[in-house]
Amino acid sequence: MNITGLMVYYYFICQRKLWYFLTQINMEQNSELVSIGKIIDETTYSREKKRILIDNTVNIDFIENGAVLHEVKKTKSIEEAGIWQVKYYMYYLEEHGVKNIMAEINYPLLRQTKQIFLEEEDKEVLKRIEENIIEISNLDKPPEVLNAKFCKKCAYFDLCYV
Ligand code: SF4
Repeated sequence: MNITGLMVYYYFICQRKLWYFLTQINMEQNSELVSIGKIIDETTYSREKKRILIDNTVNIDFIENGAVLHEVKKTKSIEEAGIWQVKYYMYYLEEHGVKNIMAEINYPLLRQTKQIFLEEEDKEVLKRIEENIIEISNLDKPPEVLNAKFCKKCAYFDLCYV
């Protein structure tokens, strides 16, 4: 199973949403890491700087000895999920041989930028999250409804509450 940054993002927002996403197969979004794999193959050994866009949200500038990720978010409302999504990309790229990765989340509407760092302990957390995501994908029924304010804006609202 390919764990994607979007899955990690959903993991932090709502595990029920993640379960819906995992069981209602969406091949386009699931192909995200396959794209990254191809990108690494095509660019890591190139001396030219290249810019790659993944899933319309994450830009990766491959530079001579590493990569700089830029994720653009509109708001900070679910900031933690975005941070872990970016950390996951950094972790994934590092596991596939891309060294010296830097990352930042850009909030153009707020005119702010947040630097993201991948610490050693984050890698352990991300390994556990990968295992948890696989466990969630194997559940026969979805995790409990969250009853959160943002549920009203969720695409799965009808499935959870109607
Ligand atoms: S409506 Fe709420 S509980 Fe249901 S999937 Fe969306 S965020 Fe999760």
